[in-house]
Amino acid sequence: MLKEMTKKINTAIIVAAGSGTRLASEIPKQFLKLRDTEILSYSVRTFLTHAQIDEVIIVASEEYLEHVKERYPKCIIVRGGATRQDSVQNGLSVCSPDTQIVLIHDAARPLIPTRVIDDCLAKLKTLDGVAPTLQPVNSMVELTDSGYRSLPRHDMRIMQTPQCFHINILKAAHASTYTATDELALVKQHDPQARLGFVEGAPENIKVTRQIDLEIIEMYLRKLEV
Ligand code: C5P
Repeated sequence: MLKEMTKKINTAIIVAAGSGTRLASEIPKQFLKLRDTEILSYSVRTFLTHAQIDEVIIVASEEYLEHVKERYPKCIIVRGGATRQDSVQNGLSVCSPDTQIVLIHDAARPLIPTRVIDDCLAKLKTLDGVAPTLQPVNSMVELTDSGYRSLPRHDMRIMQTPQCFHINILKAAHASTYTATDELALVKQHDPQARLGFVEGAPENIKVTRQIDLEIIEMYLRKLEV
């Protein structure tokens, strides 16, 4: 008997359950407005309109659950956890059974270019996991117990999101006892043999963290005419 073929799909999980304490704002940064549009909306729109993304999940805190459900009816909404890793785990738990590729994106990064998503998906044809990175422009040092040591800048990279994986490898890493602040680091700890790689990130894909970041993003919005 012929088996029914199911289409494998690509799912974006936007993690938006943080409280954003570093910005000293009452409202978490992903819900602040830029040009009358909340920060979360920008990345939701990019993923919803991307030709290769089939499903968008938003992970939100209890307090913003109703707001997000009302505002983003085309997305699947799930409650966040105490840490970013917990929030990603909750997102993974509601992915479609047909999800093959999962892209984890910070809601606090509104200006994710379509080109970065395209490049990540293309590279996943031969790799298990991919993340966008940028080369640092400043010299780098690592603080040590006895002072510091200089690091070779050309070997360093700044990690961005979306961090993208074949879902089974990310689920397996989440089922382990390891913890990490990003998915690539988590997968690497769980499976040192995993085939992980990078694509060129984008300078405008910054994470809103400090007040000045809002002004920098506003400048990019003007430049990009978004
Ligand atoms: O705190 P940080 O800036 O690293 O957070 C990155 C992203 O992870 C943000 O979009 C934030 O909303 C999300 N996050 C989350 N659940 C947490 C903590 C952070 O969804 N418990």
